[in-house]
Amino acid sequence: MRDFIRQAVLSVCVLWGGVMAAAVPSAFAAELPPMSDAEKEKIRLIVKEVIREYAATLNEKQGHGAANDIVRDIRQANSSFMRTHGPAYFKPFRDSQHPRATVITCSDSRVHTHALDASPDGDLFMIRNIGNQMATAEGSIEYGVHHLHTPLLLFIGHTACGAIKAAASDYSKESAAIRRELDTIQIPKGEPGLSSIKLNVNSQVRQAMSKFENEVISGRLTVMGAVYDFRNEMARGQGRLNIINVNGETDAAKIAALEMMKEAPARKPVRAMRRPAAKKAQPTEAESEENPAAIKLFQKPAKQTPSH
Ligand SMILES: [Zn+2]
Repeated sequence: MRDFIRQAVLSVCVLWGGVMAAAVPSAFAAELPPMSDAEKEKIRLIVKEVIREYAATLNEKQGHGAANDIVRDIRQANSSFMRTHGPAYFKPFRDSQHPRATVITCSDSRVHTHALDASPDGDLFMIRNIGNQMATAEGSIEYGVHHLHTPLLLFIGHTACGAIKAAASDYSKESAAIRRELDTIQIPKGEPGLSSIKLNVNSQVRQAMSKFENEVISGRLTVMGAVYDFRNEMARGQGRLNIINVNGETDAAKIAALEMMKEAPARKPVRAMRRPAAKKAQPTEAESEENPAAIKLFQKPAKQTPSH
């Protein structure tokens, strides 16, 4: 580190010396000339580059213990994935993607696609951010709806959401970047629980319906909101994806009566059949009896037809 600091200081001195030589004609100058913005920027870039070079050598010198472990695990998991997934697995989506849903979830590590789709590859256009929001991912959502033409836009909130907790409290001491992403969560202060989690999901659905009004009215797009409950706070089963909003309808009985909420006939998802090596288990059919408003959204059709 000392070498780098020395190099940084030297670089700045050399540059500053150059500036002085050009600006100060005699040794009797009483005051240093003010540095221009361009000169300050030059020095800033040099220092930044030196620090970057130093950071790049850190792993050689000492290693990052916690990062090393996870990198090893990730590489091992990836090798295992490659061994069990041959060319046939990648063929359906190798050259193009035709996802059936644009899905916005919270970035929370406890929320993942395997809870709702046994084979999400090529099927779910995933967008993740804190608080499963439209405002902080509008371009990505628009890409899913307008360019990939997914017939479903699904917002998934979840129980015990840290973003909701933060947005319901005083977050003025957070960084500007984090504050920006909490400002767009419209919930009352002091209410960090399930009611605010639902309120946020409903608010996202409302915003999306306003943005994609034409697609919704023409029937090309369904906008849905759900709460993934890995704590069973909603008392409908641990891990349940509870659908709470369909195109603005939030009445549970009306949602339950929708055609899309009826149990799909039992059949094996087509992709699972051509992926015998995939280790993920298919979801069971033992769902939706106690809660008709919780369905398996992503059961594959017998034959998938690309949307374009
Ligand atoms: Zn969250």
